Amino acid sequence: MKILLTEEQIAEKVRSLGAQLSGDYRGKNPVLIGCLKGCVVFLADLMRQITIPHSIDFVRTSSYGKGRVSTGTVRSEMFDLNVRGRHAVIVEDIVDTGLTLGYLTDALTRQEPLSLKVCALLVKPEAYLAPVTIDYKGFDIPGDFVVGYGLDWGERYRDLPHVAVVDEQDA
Ligand code: 5GP
Repeated sequence: MKILLTEEQIAEKVRSLGAQLSGDYRGKNPVLIGCLKGCVVFLADLMRQITIPHSIDFVRTSSYGKGRVSTGTVRSEMFDLNVRGRHAVIVEDIVDTGLTLGYLTDALTRQEPLSLKVCALLVKPEAYLAPVTIDYKGFDIPGDFVVGYGLDWGERYRDLPHVAVVDEQDA
């Protein structure tokens, strides 16, 4: 396993994203929408770097099944989420094909939020298929499958403090 982003690099970026969001959403009481399960570590850190009142909510999406290759079909559970009349920010751990984000953006736009933006910690630019804008971006990374900082491989490795590239020996 090879470390791609260290704990310190991630912490620094999360601080800067938190500062940007705090400035842009002052007086707007935004709701951060985390995409389970990969977002939990990022969201927990990000919300503690946001210095203005805000709330959080969750959706659950999956397109990967148990493996490392996207199935191409996004499944989701919205629970009883309602962003009508709110300033909403989707918080994604990683954007690969962009299919999940495209799907979520459509679903949330139909609820008529006051505004809808996207904050993603990791973006794989080579695989970016859906025409979705990422308003707050952490890192561009190569197309390799990564784990750690909330991201799993078959439910393993979410607890790593850094982001790493896996290879077959890690299975
Ligand atoms: P997309 O719909 O953009 O292809 O995929 C988004 C979702 O796929 C992410 O929220 C994440 O759950 C999963 N995913 C995409 N790339 C990776 C990766 O490199 N590692 C892990 N662990 N999950 C990924």
